[in-house]
Amino acid sequence: MAIIIKSPGEIDAMRRAGMVVASILETLSKETKAGMTTRQLDDITVKELAKCGATASFKGYGGFPASLCVSVNDEVVHGIPGDRIIHDGDIVSLDFGAIVDGFHGDAAISIGIGKISHQAKQLMEATRGSLEAGIAAARPGAHLSDISAAIQHYVESRGFSVVREYTGHGIGRDMHEDPQVPNFGPPGHGPVLRKGMTFALEPMVNAGGWRTKVKNNRWTVVTADGSLSAHFEKDIAITDGEAEVLSPWELPT
Ligand code: MG
Repeated sequence: MAIIIKSPGEIDAMRRAGMVVASILETLSKETKAGMTTRQLDDITVKELAKCGATASFKGYGGFPASLCVSVNDEVVHGIPGDRIIHDGDIVSLDFGAIVDGFHGDAAISIGIGKISHQAKQLMEATRGSLEAGIAAARPGAHLSDISAAIQHYVESRGFSVVREYTGHGIGRDMHEDPQVPNFGPPGHGPVLRKGMTFALEPMVNAGGWRTKVKNNRWTVVTADGSLSAHFEKDIAITDGEAEVLSPWELPT
């Protein structure tokens, strides 16, 4: 498993790609309202990407038909934008990537529409907090699985479960580089983290069990038990100290 170490110039390109993704996610978080279709969110993403002079990472990737993944309620990831109408009380997960100067940025947020259930709120807080716990564990000299263990501990101590079949990943010139970054597992395993490594950390967390299945459209991943799911993602670079967040979206808590 070769982990590509990025030069400062390469990390700078990733910072620019990450900023594009972060700022468009912030725009989407403000513009997403009950009554809209999920396709309208993809349209906004396409328009904003063009304004930034960036290319969509997802469109056409493995045949994916859109620039944005929109996953609602029990949908975990890879929801395809379409005619589905967003309703009050929904959790909407938005995930997309952008290419700037040959490097990818990839990030995701989950947002609650109108008044959401207590469980939905707790689930989103746990998922977002677990991402921050993972970032805090991403220090030089630590092992890769220290990140995984920090995320799993944070989620499970709050009574939720971590999706196993989909993981975070290395990122750079390719959207998915080695290694995979699971959101579970014991600490102290895997490669030792070094300055210049770049990862997309992305806990996917279910209110019920961790198992998932794929819908008949061959893309959309849903929870096997129909429970709610949330997803937050940021790209990071390993530094001499705390990890640098390359796609630093900010959302009100
Ligand atoms: Mg990703």
